[in-house]
Amino acid sequence: SADKLGEVTVSTVALKDVSKVFKDGTLAVDKINLDVNDGEFMVLLGPSGCGKSTVLRMIAGLEDPTEGAVLLDGELANDLPPRDRKIAMVFQDFALYPHMTVGDNIAFPLRLAGVEPEPRGERVTDVASALGINDVLARKPGQLSGGQRQRVAMGRAIVRRPGLFLMDEPLSNLDSGLRAELRAEISGLTRELGVTTVYVTHDQAEALTMADRVAIMRRGVLQDVGTPTQVYGRPATLYVAAFLGSPRMNLLEASVYVHLDRYVTLNLGDQALYLPWNDIRSRAVAHYHGERIVVGMRAEALTPVAPDSPGDVLRGRIRYLEHHGHESLAFLDIGATAIMVDEMGAPLDSPPIGQRGLRRFGAVMQRLTGKPVETE
Ligand code: ATP
Repeated sequence: SADKLGEVTVSTVALKDVSKVFKDGTLAVDKINLDVNDGEFMVLLGPSGCGKSTVLRMIAGLEDPTEGAVLLDGELANDLPPRDRKIAMVFQDFALYPHMTVGDNIAFPLRLAGVEPEPRGERVTDVASALGINDVLARKPGQLSGGQRQRVAMGRAIVRRPGLFLMDEPLSNLDSGLRAELRAEISGLTRELGVTTVYVTHDQAEALTMADRVAIMRRGVLQDVGTPTQVYGRPATLYVAAFLGSPRMNLLEASVYVHLDRYVTLNLGDQALYLPWNDIRSRAVAHYHGERIVVGMRAEALTPVAPDSPGDVLRGRIRYLEHHGHESLAFLDIGATAIMVDEMGAPLDSPPIGQRGLRRFGAVMQRLTGKPVETE
């Protein structure tokens, strides 16, 4: 893509078997392979210490990989100094110059690059209006709100039209309302600019709402890469299944039998579910014939029914209900959580009429995913 100034800003990142071992022997990143496409918004997600910042710092050139290759636009970049990487980075502390005005802060990278005052001023005005901070250009960072400071930091990062945007938890010091507002703004802005972005966070709401694709890490190992819908609906590993989503994905152990007369049985503890062969749920588990697997199903994929309903009904007892305003969650003795709604989708205060007192519960499992049982 070519931007307004006519510069070509193609940018891709590829990591090939990249590992990082720190001097003290800490294995922070373990043979990661990842491709970030031109214009893509890639989020690196994982708990504290999983190695996501180290990956970002290796892309930026602030940290050398112990092994493997970092490719920028298809070229080996392992030995390229940070300043030659056409990269802009935003950190959580913003790092603005306190004695300079907002306008001078944003213009600073252009001044360093020797851009003349006139085009420099135009560019700062363009960026400031894109970010909605035109009216604070004359102020000092100390006279701004947290959200405005964040925008100035963004402005300074994009003013030189980087080919690649790297952000490390840029919203983590802000309150939750502002974070939600700014995450829409940041992902909207980077898409408008068409800048390839790698964004690090431990916040899954941020990851799922902002990303084109999410890369999920655990203890230095890449667990899964996919669109938010893919990693949420069909997680690659049990770790990802349990890590993403609230309430947590229901994970129940089952054994699978494929019957020659074309149906699949799922044996879950003391109950068996019969799934017709042409059912999408059969396809999710059928290739594990004869194995013990973990069946995953989201709470929202369990549709409450009367426990004595015929068909493929999962049965349990409600231990307690938890009310969240927009929905009610039922925690079942079989180790599953279901969302309790009436036929119109409104949350229920108590188990459905007729089951009151009994607290028996039946649910149809609408969508399933299956993985072999992992032992660790
Ligand atoms: P956080 O969200 O807490 O920043 P992270 O996922 O970004 O976590 P990293 O900062 O990449 O994790 O750190 C990964 C691992 O490497 C951690 O165990 C960390 O303690 C270790 N580590 C990071 N920097 C160094 C260093 N300079 N020397 C030794 N170990 C380090």
